[in-house]
Amino acid sequence: MTEALARLERGRGAWSWVIDICPYCGKKHTHGGGPIEGDPRELLGARAAHCKSVQPEIYILVEEPASPRASTPQGWL
Ligand SMILES: [Zn+2]
Repeated sequence: MTEALARLERGRGAWSWVIDICPYCGKKHTHGGGPIEGDPRELLGARAAHCKSVQPEIYILVEEPASPRASTPQGWL
């Protein structure tokens, strides 16, 4: 099963899982992550890809590993 790296974005009242590069079509897709007061990680897992140009497929949403910036306050060179 194909995995798709998703990053969490906070919207107005709701989370979104954003896939910058779809493994199928290479485009950006956004999937709902539920209400802000909920746990968006419960909505990871198998989702229907939002591709328009190719046949709809299933991929596994996987949380993107935290950026190095998050653990190194002075940034990285
Ligand atoms: Zn796609």
